[in-house]
Amino acid sequence: RKANVGVVGLAAMGASLARNLAHHGNRVAVYNRTYQRTETFMKEHGDEGVLIPSQTVKEFVESLSVPRTAIIMVKAGAPTDQVINELAEYMEQGDIIVDGGNAYFEDTIRREKAMAERGIHFVGMGVSGGEEGALNGPSMMPGGSDWSWETLKPILESIAAKAPDGTPCVAHIGPNGAGHFVKMVHNGIEYADMQLIAESYDLMRRGLGMDPQQIGDVFAAWNKTELDSYLVEITAEVLRKRDEKTGKPIVDMIVDHAGMKGTGTWTVQTALSLAVPVTGIAEAVFARGLSDQTALREQAQKENFKAPEAALHMDGAEAETFIELIREALYASKIVAYAQGFNEIAQAGQKYGWDIDMAQVARIWRAGCIIRAKFLNRISDAFESGSADISLLFAPYFKEALENCEEAWRKVIATATMHGIPTPVFSSSLAYFDGLRSKRLPAALIQGQRDLFGAHTYQRVDEPGAFHTLWAEPDQKEIKISD
Ligand code: NDP
Repeated sequence: RKANVGVVGLAAMGASLARNLAHHGNRVAVYNRTYQRTETFMKEHGDEGVLIPSQTVKEFVESLSVPRTAIIMVKAGAPTDQVINELAEYMEQGDIIVDGGNAYFEDTIRREKAMAERGIHFVGMGVSGGEEGALNGPSMMPGGSDWSWETLKPILESIAAKAPDGTPCVAHIGPNGAGHFVKMVHNGIEYADMQLIAESYDLMRRGLGMDPQQIGDVFAAWNKTELDSYLVEITAEVLRKRDEKTGKPIVDMIVDHAGMKGTGTWTVQTALSLAVPVTGIAEAVFARGLSDQTALREQAQKENFKAPEAALHMDGAEAETFIELIREALYASKIVAYAQGFNEIAQAGQKYGWDIDMAQVARIWRAGCIIRAKFLNRISDAFESGSADISLLFAPYFKEALENCEEAWRKVIATATMHGIPTPVFSSSLAYFDGLRSKRLPAALIQGQRDLFGAHTYQRVDEPGAFHTLWAEPDQKEIKISD
């Protein structure tokens, strides 16, 4: 009998996904460019289910039952195009190629179009949860045609993570690039979430003088509150871990440079082109960038700038109270980061003609992925009820949460600023919120400046139409440009 699904690429992700598929009763064809990797895979895992190895792409395609379904898990970029073309050569109309790599959604749109012309269904699918998730249950965000979803649904539901209520964490996001787009924003939100946790840690470390073990205990306690999430849980684990060599906290032995592979940057670049403010995600990307600016940072150390003392000199009950303020500031900023991410998805949905169900997106992020968190239940409820249509911030649950946290948010940022501890995502999230709720913004002045130097015109608060002031004329008269 033939395989009902195949996996191309048997590195960390592909191997785990193939095993997961096999563990759930699928008959899985496997292929890897370098055959030795396939051999090793079969030697180590060949007995875990029905796994059918192939040495060539042709053999691989022939080992699949019709409609053929192949999931690609190779290096993103040119290698993905190469593999798609190789597969397409042997595939027929009605077959399905799924790209589970971290592709840029515009590439996915292009690939889907090219394959559609040949009658092949191309599905760009975001896969979250890393290697462990791929093996034991990832969160998956497939795009592509409705037709391909019919075939993929039972296969993907069999291997997806299950939310606490038993729902599989996979859903058809929308046509062409929608799935990869949502996965990209997921990663952007992940950047903001991680930076917020790091800022909270820094405030406790430098501000309150706590050691990593104590801070780990705080995060473990926070994990029993609204902040209950995978990222908070692993933060406690990292902070409590000691270095085997020196016995010091491992966090003190790790060089303070945070790497990145590009999805956070894409989220921000795309948001810029859509003119959607995702300030939390942007600041998180820039914070990683700053951490990696070695020469700049070394020179700044040499400059020995005059700066306030980081220590807050708080202890006992006062420190306890401040820790709770940090928790509230984190929660409020996190709500803003998620709201901004969902705004970006909504805006892109309009531009690209995707009809994305936000409640469903929140639901499939509840398990299997890196940003899995209890409060995603609240987010899906908010979208379900229609109260988050414009922004998550206006849904009653989140509005109340922001109001409850607001004072703490301001105090924490003010204190951090006075003590020279950077809180870029805390601060930018509050600035966004304050901007959003302001009845009048200084944008009026900016528009005035634009009219002066570039005759860009302005609208008046008391009359429709476009106006321009003749700034260079002696009497600086205003003229009406259009109705
Ligand atoms: P890598 O990104 O390290 O890619 C290695 C695989 O790609 C190998 O199987 C390799 O084959 C194959 N490959 C590279 N170039 C070509 C080519 N020109 N033609 C055919 N095959 C090629 O593997 P990962 O498992 O880490 O990731 C796979 C995909 O999943 C990537 O797109 C990644 O972004 C994405 N992803 C990764 C996550 C993670 O946590 N690692 C999480 C979610 C998604 P060979 O053995 O012959 O070199």
